[in-house]
Amino acid sequence: MTAQEFTHPDDAAALKKLESIPLLPTLTKTFMDVGAEQMMYGTNMATKVKLSPTQLPKLYNILPPLCARLGIKEPEFFLEMTPVPNAYAFGDTYTAITITSGIVDLLTEEELIACVAHECGHILCRHMLYHTMASMLVNGAMQSDILGAIAAPLKFALLYWNRKSELSCDRVATFCCGPETTIRLMTRLAGGPKNITDEINLVEFAEQADQYDAICKDGMWNKTLQTFAVLNQDHPFASVRVRETLRWVVDDKYKKLREKYPSCPHCYREIKPGARFCTNCGKGL
Ligand SMILES: [Zn+2]
Ligand SMILES: [Zn+2]
Repeated sequence: MTAQEFTHPDDAAALKKLESIPLLPTLTKTFMDVGAEQMMYGTNMATKVKLSPTQLPKLYNILPPLCARLGIKEPEFFLEMTPVPNAYAFGDTYTAITITSGIVDLLTEEELIACVAHECGHILCRHMLYHTMASMLVNGAMQSDILGAIAAPLKFALLYWNRKSELSCDRVATFCCGPETTIRLMTRLAGGPKNITDEINLVEFAEQADQYDAICKDGMWNKTLQTFAVLNQDHPFASVRVRETLRWVVDDKYKKLREKYPSCPHCYREIKPGARFCTNCGKGL
């Protein structure tokens, strides 16, 4: 599979603008090369649980089939103890995916697979260099003098691209686990754990995206307010992600992708040509 098959047009356009900023590509690469990656490698090993076939295999086993299906090199996979639900991919030459205990608690097994598929999407779509830089800016891991060296407009340019890049990875999650699971994952992230959001009305939640659009289009002042509200965010708002996911699944490119890489219509796992039953969910094809 290729990045182009999933890249959201807003992601491609934002990346083009980002790479045209003088010195930014060199500066970012240098920042990674001088130690950001090694620092993260050490922190991962020292503070998180590295998942493996013999270390919490139920969690670990989520990753290899996704990497095989997407055709990416398997990153290291970590579990971090924090109640904050989060998952993130880090690194450019050394790559790692981390899931927090909070997100494992929050999601069903299928939603957790979609969440890890989204993170694998960052690797497939070659987001990792700028994505890592953007997350370090947001998480305050960079010292203020380094921050000072990277002017605020560059930070906002990185975050703007980062938000668009998330839409490409939502497409990867949708391809791997289906739109319903992917949107349900977004409802959990917006509304809370399974026991609270299990009965959520997905149609109404999706309609919030239309209402959000209407607010943004309601005059210049509202547009400005919403632009300001999202300025420091590294992810798009949940309703935007829902709207874009719903648009993607009726797009011809999505349909062609499903035809090119046949998958089970029930669980969206890969199926062998001519198979009569899905080896994952057991349902007839
Ligand atoms: Zn992401
Ligand atoms: Zn199936």
